[in-house]
Amino acid sequence: MSYPKLEINVRKLEYNARVEVRNLAKVGVTVMGVNKVFNGLPETAEAIVRGGIKTVAESRVSNLKKIENIDCEKCLLRSPLMSDIEDTVKYADISLNSEIEVIRALSQEAVKQEKTHKILLMIDMGDIREGIWFENKDEIKAVVNEIKALPNLEIYGLGTNFNCFGTALPTVKNGVAFRKLASEIEESCGVKFQYLSAGNCTSYHLIDKGIWPEGLNHLRIGGLHLYGMEYVSMKYLDEYYHSDMDINRAVSNLYVLKGEIIELNSKPTVPVGELGVDAFLQSKHFEDHGTRKRALLSFGRQDIPSENIWPVDPQVQIMGQTSDHTLIDLEDCDIQYRVGDIVAFELDYTGLLAACNSPGIEKAFVTD
Ligand SMILES: *Cc1c(COP(=O)(O)O)cnc(C)c1O
Repeated sequence: MSYPKLEINVRKLEYNARVEVRNLAKVGVTVMGVNKVFNGLPETAEAIVRGGIKTVAESRVSNLKKIENIDCEKCLLRSPLMSDIEDTVKYADISLNSEIEVIRALSQEAVKQEKTHKILLMIDMGDIREGIWFENKDEIKAVVNEIKALPNLEIYGLGTNFNCFGTALPTVKNGVAFRKLASEIEESCGVKFQYLSAGNCTSYHLIDKGIWPEGLNHLRIGGLHLYGMEYVSMKYLDEYYHSDMDINRAVSNLYVLKGEIIELNSKPTVPVGELGVDAFLQSKHFEDHGTRKRALLSFGRQDIPSENIWPVDPQVQIMGQTSDHTLIDLEDCDIQYRVGDIVAFELDYTGLLAACNSPGIEKAFVTD
């Protein structure tokens, strides 16, 4: 095993998924487990399935291929590409849809593959990303009627998404409006939606506050079991494992990024000579703090941006990055670091996303 390395605690992930599935069942909500941050890692998908998740969602077909052999239902979380219909039907049991032409192509391909493909029809309730606009009721009804008539398709449910592109918060008001719209469509088209899929992890704040609109019975969730966090009030939830880490605790965290020290010395804090721009064409300003002890780590900006990581040792300071190096200041550290030592970092969601998508970062799975 080499460094940099991302360690993922799959036991804690499984535990968080179990708490989530159980807590949301209490208000009648089924959880679709979103694995997209891990870029299709089968180990993390398996962990949430062990925790009780029955359906795993990915935004890319290429990642659904990676979890092909996991025994669960699979969902494509993004509208299928016209150029990718064959693999969508092959690797996904369900997909999120809002384009009738795509839906027709899915039906045709499902006939060919002798499969039934399930459609989660997306409605845009105001976040202005995917979905048929909620005010275009005639279009929604026409699409539902056509799905009903098309061979080898089944309607999985009606879905909506909040707090993504438009940052429109999930509220009681738009939740109830979504439910009313669904009832109107059901009545007009003679269908019954098995699932009203009301959003992502940000919708959890309504459950936490005890004001969850009745009748909404499905969420597509990553962030809640990933970080044990409620994202509207930005608070950690007691019953989950979190990703914040105490250097004095020997336990491993949900996610830890570990980098190796490849050079360690004392140098001035201000460069010598005439200054130009850095590798990213930015000019920089350096404050003079004298000569300080510092180290180079074996990962850089192309792996993970330093804005999205935090040293577990609070006395370590991040100085900056180039493509393949991260520079840290060790002058104030009680720990006497040496070349070859490992320095650990916590990661936020963006950091985790970057780490999982970097082929330069090893992935390791721990269970302690
Ligand atoms: C990413 C995504 C989700 C899950 O989001 P989290 O914030 O991880 O809970 C749900 N629905 C759609 C359409 C998504 O793209």
